[in-house]
Amino acid sequence: MLTGIQVVLAGGDARQLEVIRRLTELDASVTLVGFDRLDTSFNGVVKAEWAPELMRHADALVLPVVGTDDDGIISALFTDLELKLTDAHLSIAPKKCKVITGMANSYLKTLCAKHELELVELFERDDVAIYNSIPTAEGALMMAIQNTDITIHGSNCMVLGLGRTGFTMARTLQALGANVKAGVRRDESYARAYEMGFFPFYMPDLARYAGNIDLIFNTIPTMIVTAQVIAQLPLRACIIDLASKPGGTDFRFAEKRGIKALLAPGLPGIVAPRTAGRIIANCLTQIIMDDTQLRGNQV
Ligand code: NAP
Repeated sequence: MLTGIQVVLAGGDARQLEVIRRLTELDASVTLVGFDRLDTSFNGVVKAEWAPELMRHADALVLPVVGTDDDGIISALFTDLELKLTDAHLSIAPKKCKVITGMANSYLKTLCAKHELELVELFERDDVAIYNSIPTAEGALMMAIQNTDITIHGSNCMVLGLGRTGFTMARTLQALGANVKAGVRRDESYARAYEMGFFPFYMPDLARYAGNIDLIFNTIPTMIVTAQVIAQLPLRACIIDLASKPGGTDFRFAEKRGIKALLAPGLPGIVAPRTAGRIIANCLTQIIMDDTQLRGNQV
């Protein structure tokens, strides 16, 4: 339980509703900032304005999955007010206060380091990335279905990168009856792909295998689907780039060749905000509970 734990939750979208729900179930004291347009009420939760004083007794500051922008602005779907995370907020926070977000930019990292506050980036964790790969693969599948005139079953698909997202993507396509080629760079990934019944190849051979492909799902966050690769693709092919912005596709050349190429960021929050919220909520509350227990043991 989180009885007596003070959590300030600032900004965010529908995913944070699951976080609020979970925190209140565990009896944490939750202060919401940037939720003035939210109609749902939660027992024991108070809404407040974004004043530095709020942070004085906070055990955790929970930010949206994207943290802040480069100027410290916290995105907040449920308010028209601007929330900015500043020195004033973090300088007042006790040293035990954790700042929890999905991913942090240099603004947030620098601010937390300056005030010696621990910054937790949930999306850096393997467990969160693997759970998140489920709604990501479903979202990518939705885009594939919307942007092709063939079934996934029997289609020739290529998944680039067999990491946490790539494995789930490849397995999901395979389960629907697609022929799945998997582009890897390590021998052990090649062996695993073979064992799982995919057709593995090494990335330098990508262009050679591109000739008969209906769908490419890229998860490699570097320029990988180059003009040279796109030149080999049939015109019916569709590229769905899942890698973080700017993706790994030469979108300019794809457009020039008339090949559909779509950058698809943030799919979990788009196709399954409640599940995505639950994934964040479970991990985040576990981190706060472990921390509380650790501090309790140290007293
Ligand atoms: P990951 O587990 O690190 O997987 C990335 C894969 O890319 C690994 O298999 C890695 O190979 C491979 N790779 C990296 N650089 C490479 C290179 N230069 N050449 C060949 N292979 C390379 O990451 P992840 O969690 O699956 O996430 C993948 C990307 O998807 C990230 O950019 C992430 O931000 C993004 N993402 C997007 C969504 C969305 O909604 N669109 C959702 C979740 C994640 P090794 O295994 O050999 O290192």
